Amino acid sequence: MASNCNGNSHHFKIPEIKFTKLFIDGEFVDSVSGKTLETIDPRTGEVITRVAAGDKEDVDLAVKAARQAFDHGPWPRLGGSERAKIMLKFADLIEENLEELAALETVDAGKVITFCKMGDIPSAARALRYYAGAADKIHGTVMKLSKGLQGYTLKEPIGVVGHIIPWNFPTVMFFMKTAPALAAGCTMVIKPAEQTPLTALYYAHLAKLAGVPNGVLNIVNGYGETAGAAMSAHMDIDKVSFTGSTEVGRKIMAAAAASNLKPVSLELGGKSPLLVFDDVDVNEAANIAFNGMFINKGEICVASSRLFVQEGIYDKFVNKLVEKAKSWVVGDPFDPKVNQGPQVSKEQFERVMSYIEHGKRQGATLLTGGKRLGQKGYYIEPTIFTDDDMIIAKEEIFGPVLSVMKFKTVEEGIKRANLTSYGLAAGIITKDLNIANTVSRSIRAGIIWINCYAAFDIDCPYGGFKMSGFGRDFGVEALNQYLQIKSVVTPVQNSPWF
Ligand code: NAD
Repeated sequence: MASNCNGNSHHFKIPEIKFTKLFIDGEFVDSVSGKTLETIDPRTGEVITRVAAGDKEDVDLAVKAARQAFDHGPWPRLGGSERAKIMLKFADLIEENLEELAALETVDAGKVITFCKMGDIPSAARALRYYAGAADKIHGTVMKLSKGLQGYTLKEPIGVVGHIIPWNFPTVMFFMKTAPALAAGCTMVIKPAEQTPLTALYYAHLAKLAGVPNGVLNIVNGYGETAGAAMSAHMDIDKVSFTGSTEVGRKIMAAAAASNLKPVSLELGGKSPLLVFDDVDVNEAANIAFNGMFINKGEICVASSRLFVQEGIYDKFVNKLVEKAKSWVVGDPFDPKVNQGPQVSKEQFERVMSYIEHGKRQGATLLTGGKRLGQKGYYIEPTIFTDDDMIIAKEEIFGPVLSVMKFKTVEEGIKRANLTSYGLAAGIITKDLNIANTVSRSIRAGIIWINCYAAFDIDCPYGGFKMSGFGRDFGVEALNQYLQIKSVVTPVQNSPWF
């Protein structure tokens, strides 16, 4: 077996599930239809619990509450520092409940517990604090215009926001969207992915405890084709922020265009290139490349899934990667020794396995992995193929499958890196500053990592070029997506200074 499978899931206790309903106008409520959906433990394929499943009627109720809170409630009218105070309290409550939240995220999404504790959940508190710090610094500019006119701009919250988020980083996505929108003074409806609703509902509870007023933050669990589609077509949602697949991004944009022309921001997929040049320390570079691909079981939109290695170190590099794959531990994500948990769902598991089979059939060279691990749950070996020009090296797989390719010159590397309809991220590993500068300027992607990979910080904007979408999460740029500018122009009379 390529990896050490630690498939016994029963040593680790599932946390108590406290919240399973929709959260509308400050209350947990059943769906209008009474329908529920199963949320599955990807370690076993067994049902964890059922949560209320909302559709159009529930979205209508949630939007009504958000509209009321926006048009008449305190949230958009508070001073920024007052909103900040509540957001800071919210952040503290997340830290106080860190262990429980991390366990919920692990059981729902199959993410390794150590990462949830050290990365995902703390990042939620960090996002709230970052945007709380910006909430009282939102202001426009003043202009002296021609013909005795003075102009100034106001930055006003955009209104009721719909956030539609995926399952791969349920917590990070929740706060990369809601924290800047809260700071801006917006009210919102959030639809978590149907695979991973559990932490989102817990956050609704904490938001209320922190003092976020009723109606400001509403959660409608449900499927994309029902709840998600109702949100993107809603006449009373003023903006939709989406992260997910390119295919669904298109549908959301079409629904927005056909309804009230609401602006959308879309963070879509990728097939990101990582270029490794001959001058590097092979072991160090292989570590960066391996983690860039296999972290979060390959369920990460920036995964360095197209790895280009310069010919001088190619053989040595590939051997190192295989060595790393063999010592990479796949198993129960609650086990602190484990590096990779199960894929999020049966559907994703099957999707990844079918790509692997397709690669084999097309004649790609399988260096390591390629098989399911264990008899139950959705575990897949870290899988490495070589050979270019195959479907597996072009389409986003969203699982632990890496394509390694050889290149000769800087020019060739740039050309092949750009040969994709995506443009989310890219990486360069080299000691040569000139190469790093040339390549980073030449690759069409929203974020470029030099001598590191998938290094995120809330202060650094993040989003796509080309078919990876548009708009930016993180940074001040994300805050601006939830604000709109109003210009005010007025004559100034009889001033000797104007
Ligand atoms: P998806 O795009 O189908 O789902 C993302 C969110 O959109 C979910 O909340 C879903 O319920 C909702 N949705 C689905 N159909 C909708 C519709 N018609 N209208 C409105 N909302 C809708 O993604 P998925 O099926 O969960 O994953 C499929 C692929 O998407 C993955 O394999 C990967 O390629 C990509 N993906 C990308 C990211 C990313 O971070 N960029 C995250 C998750 C998935």
